[in-house]
This record gives sequence, C-alpha cells and structure tokens, in this order.
Amino acid sequence: MKHMYVSGEWVESEDKRTVATKDPATQEVIAEVPRGGKEDVHRAVLTARKTFESDEWQDFADEERGRILFDMAGRIRAASEELAQLETKDTGKPISQARGDVEAAARYFEYYAGMADKIFGETIPIQADVLDYTVREPVGVTAHIIPWNYPIQITSRSTAAAIATGNTVVVKPAEDTPLTALKLAELFDETSLPKGVFNVVTGYGKEAGDALIHHPEVNHITFTGSVQTGRLVMEAGSKNIVPVTLELGGKSPNIVFEDANLDETAKWVVKSIVQNAGQTCSAGSRLLIQEWVKEEFLQRIQKQMESLSLGRGLDDPDLGPVLSQKQYERIEMFLDIAKKENASFVTGGKRVHVDGCEDGHFIAPTIIDGLDPHSEVAQEEIFGPVLSVFTFKEEQEAIQLANDTPYGLVTGVWTENIGRAHRLARKIRAGQVFINNYGAGGGIQMPFGGYKKSGFGREKGLEALKNYTILKNVAVKM
Ligand code: NAP
Repeated sequence: MKHMYVSGEWVESEDKRTVATKDPATQEVIAEVPRGGKEDVHRAVLTARKTFESDEWQDFADEERGRILFDMAGRIRAASEELAQLETKDTGKPISQARGDVEAAARYFEYYAGMADKIFGETIPIQADVLDYTVREPVGVTAHIIPWNYPIQITSRSTAAAIATGNTVVVKPAEDTPLTALKLAELFDETSLPKGVFNVVTGYGKEAGDALIHHPEVNHITFTGSVQTGRLVMEAGSKNIVPVTLELGGKSPNIVFEDANLDETAKWVVKSIVQNAGQTCSAGSRLLIQEWVKEEFLQRIQKQMESLSLGRGLDDPDLGPVLSQKQYERIEMFLDIAKKENASFVTGGKRVHVDGCEDGHFIAPTIIDGLDPHSEVAQEEIFGPVLSVFTFKEEQEAIQLANDTPYGLVTGVWTENIGRAHRLARKIRAGQVFINNYGAGGGIQMPFGGYKKSGFGREKGLEALKNYTILKNVAVKM
C-alpha cells in the first residue's frame, strides 16, 4: 500500500517517502504508506475545494448522497472480515472487537445516509409582511484528524456526517494505523461518489497533520486525540477563524452505591476499563465506591480481571497488546509513579509475556488502591488497562470526587435509587452519564463529547450534523 487517495487517484507522496506501520503484537512491519507532506496536503485540500465548488457537487441531489452512503454501508459489510483483520493487525485489538468496530462503521454510514435529505431550517415569525427562514448549508472542506485507537469507527462517524451534509473531506489517519482509512477510500472509489469528495493523506501528525490543520482552505477541523495536540488544533483553527470539534481524553468514573446490583455492575466496570486494553477515550478509569461495599466489590472485579486472557489480536483474547513502545512507556511511567507513592496494587501492575509475541507490550489488567485523588495517576489519562479506586461515604462526596479532575467525558452511575440517579445525572460535569450501564445501546445515535478538557462539540447522533453545516438566515419583505 504505497499509495494514498487524492482526487480519486492512488498517489505516492511528492517525495516518494513512506512510513511503516507495524503489528503491535510482534512489531513486524505490515505495510508502508506514503509519508505525505505539505505539498500532498495542499493538493488534497485544493482538490476538495475545487470539488466542493463544482456545479456537479453543488447540484448533487441530497437523496443521491444518501444512496451513496447506504451503498458504502453495504460495501463495508461485504468487506467486513477483511476490514476487521486489517484493523486488528494495525491496532493489536482482539478480532471480535474489531468486528464490532467495522459494524459500527457501517452503522454510521447508514445512519447519516438517512439524514442526507433531511437537513432543513425553520421559519421564524417576525411580522406580517416579512417571511424569515433559515437554511443549513455545508461548511465546505472538512479536515478529519483520526487517532489510532478506533480508526475505522472514528473515520466513519465524522466523514459520513460531513458527506451527508454536502461537504468534501480530507482525512489524516494516525501514522500507526492508516490501513482501514485507505480501505474505506478503496470502497468509496467503487461507488458513484464524485472524485475529490473523499481524500486520504497518510503520514506523520507533525507533517501532514500540521499542514492540514493550518491550511487556509479548510473550513472545519474535527480532531480526536490528546489534549496537547487538541490545543494545537484549536490554535490553528483560531488563526484561520475556522470552527473545530475536539474530542479529547477523559478520566471517567464509575460511581457505585451500596444498593447497586454488584454482580452486574462488576461486569460493566471491568469491561469499561479493559476494552481495547484501556486505550479508549471513554474508559472507566476511576472507580468511586461506597466505603462499606468496597471489599466485596473489589473481590468481584479482581477475580474477573485475573481471569482475562491476553494475546495476539487475531487469536481473539480479551486484551491485545497496547499500541506501541511509546504507549507502553507512558503506562509504565504512571505505574512507577503509583509505586513510588506507595499505592497498593490489588492486581496487575506488570507486563505479561505472550508466546510468539516477545516484542509486543501486553499489560495485565491493573487495580490500584490508596492513591491520593489529586495525584497525577488519579487525575491524568493513562490510556491503559489501569483502574484507580477511591471510596466515598455520601452522595455529595461522590459527586465532588467525580467532578474533581480536569476532564468530563463520561460517568457511570450505579444505584437502584432513581431519585439519586437523576440528581447525579444533573450534577455530574460530563458530556454523557450512563445510569446502571456503561455504553448500552451502542452509541451511534447518542451525542458524544466532553466538558472541560475533554473537548467540545458533539460527535455521533443528529447533533454532529451541526458541526458540518452553517446556518443562514433569509428575510423576505413581501
Ligand atoms: P495525538 O498526538 O493527539 O494523535 C492524534 C492524532 O493527531 C493523530 O492522527 C496524530 O497523527 C495527529 N497529530 C499529532 N500531532 C499533530 C499535529 N501537530 N498537528 C496535527 N495533527 C497531529 O495522540 P497520541 O500521541 O497518538 O496519543 C497520546 C495520548 O493521547 C494517549 O496516550 C491518549 O491519552 C490520548 N489519546 C486520546 C484519544 C481519544 O480517543 N480521545 C485517542 C488517541 C490518543 P500521528 O499519529 O501521525 O502523530
């Protein structure tokens, strides 16, 4: 795969250089993709601009855009096993999770396909001889900077919404996981989508990514990733006065009250931190547990965590390796800090050997108890299968602990007391509150995004359509 997809053509980078992508379980090189630079990004953005302004795209029937996106959903399903295997090889995640990601990608295309001919404004009562109405128009050229943890899902959710609303798209996948974005380009190429609507430029964040976010012809930037890079995206957006949507990390808590169904809760709490080896923005990385049920609850989750398997993604274990050496070192750094602070490790805290994968980085699911809630480990996103435990006595203390980090992405609340559940939903400063579940319903239709340093703007659901449309007001004097 030495080519990327620009203007409906498979092209090398201007200087013919490439970037290697590796299997995280073995560190073997699985593909080389172009190392796109400033010139490549420029070409992709200009083609997206030209296509956006073309009569063909401006006059393209809404329902036809919808049909093409439905067609894409079908093609994704037809190629689902190939896509899932690519995703697993690139990210290291268990194949059954990759299959779920591919199905979610197909669902995003389907969901936004249905919306392509349902984007409309409203009439506003002014006075008898003035007709005032609004229309929602596409913003233009949209840039999509994709992270490595859920590449196919995240590429699909934002590009499907952007194309449904009539925009053109330039995608920059993460350097470590470019393969499924390129496969999506291959599938788009088989549809009747006009050339130049969907473009993918591969390469490094600091080169291709930087050039894309700063390009003056980009009208909107969608970014998912770290707070640090999110800041750069926001600065670039403010230089060119373009809106940005930032989906950054989290330090999301599960708040468990004594009246919760502890068996059921334990299953979700474990799943929420081990899924994708903890490399999920919405991972439930803090457990806030009512003091008097702590021991019995910890026994349950410890037992479950210790029964989980680790291995190569294609063998479908419960947890695969973490993505890279860089990611491993980051997790190890946090574990070392916790050890220095004399926190106790209920389970895990170490690397696990997997036969045949000596160069992969596998981390045992870990529970850390006894941290100061203000310590770095308790406050910062680790992005690994590491759960920190804190206790509370009363509801108010639980709310205060839950809100006491720089992030506000997701919170799980576990209680049989419906009044308490609603009180917490109101007082929690997070974009999404799950009551007696953590991610039920799949999430495609639910608006998703952060409070505080978890970012702003909403992805998923109908709310995401606002990112990709701009409101125009029209007043007619009659
Ligand atoms: P990152 O640097 O923020 O990467 C996210 C995306 O931004 C990638 O496509 C990356 O490309 C691109 N990028 C990097 N530097 C850029 C720049 N200067 N201009 C434009 N784009 C740029 O995240 P990371 O280093 O891969 O991961 C670090 C931490 O971020 C993780 O440990 C985790 O805490 C957090 N993270 C969160 C999420 C999430 O879902 N919220 C996802 C991923 C990471 P390259 O990959 O090519 O550099």
